[in-house]
Amino acid sequence: MAKNYIIEHMEEGMHDWCKLEYEHMVTVCGADHIYFTALTPNTLADMPETLVKAHCHTEDILTMGDRIPHEKVCLLDPASPHVLCPEDAEKFDYYLFGGILGDDPPRDRTGELRKLGFATRHLGEVQMTTDTAVNVTRRVVEGLVPLDKIPFIDHPEIKLRKKETVTMPFRYIAKETPESSPSTAESQTAGETPSSSKKSKKSKKPEPILPPGMIELLIKDNDTALDLF
Ligand code: SAH
Repeated sequence: MAKNYIIEHMEEGMHDWCKLEYEHMVTVCGADHIYFTALTPNTLADMPETLVKAHCHTEDILTMGDRIPHEKVCLLDPASPHVLCPEDAEKFDYYLFGGILGDDPPRDRTGELRKLGFATRHLGEVQMTTDTAVNVTRRVVEGLVPLDKIPFIDHPEIKLRKKETVTMPFRYIAKETPESSPSTAESQTAGETPSSSKKSKKSKKPEPILPPGMIELLIKDNDTALDLF
């Protein structure tokens, strides 16, 4: 059953980084299942077309409480003592996240939502970006995939240009590769070994699933930072 994902916007304005992350979660979950709350009127006015299709509210989650059954809401909280599992799909219909640009090290700004008293679940001990947390939650409660069966990549090094890389201080979902996708095993006829079936290629380093446009934004931010020197 399709679930609903509520992102309480907790940043000033709508940074380009937020826009890309929010667009990514709308693409993955569908506009009808995404709620952006606590948007200021200015931020709402600045929302791109792609995001306005989702449910956009200036009210915060507390004010919306009378329309969303409290016991059906689960806050994704890195500090929760309980890990999210597929069985939680029967308990909760709404999954709440902090619309927070990850700090490094984290400052526990999710704590502001923890005070609201919702049930909480964590997604592992490494901080994820908000869109990654939404996409991981969706795989667990809609795809019914246990957290420890989702391929992750921590603190990936992103190549910006030939000799320029940046290390991201977050956990991401790793892109499926021919070696890691189950179909590789199925596509081999019995008795064949990978090397005999096709020229065994050097396995590529797993890559993180990033919001479309994020690498271009990182290059732009990086160039701006370099211009300062
Ligand atoms: N640095 C922020 C967190 C940013 S991550 C802080 O100080 O709290 C944005 C949101 O994604 C968090 O508010 C939380 O809802 C979710 N999230 C990220 N990583 C998570 C994890 N490991 N477990 C549970 N929720 C997580």
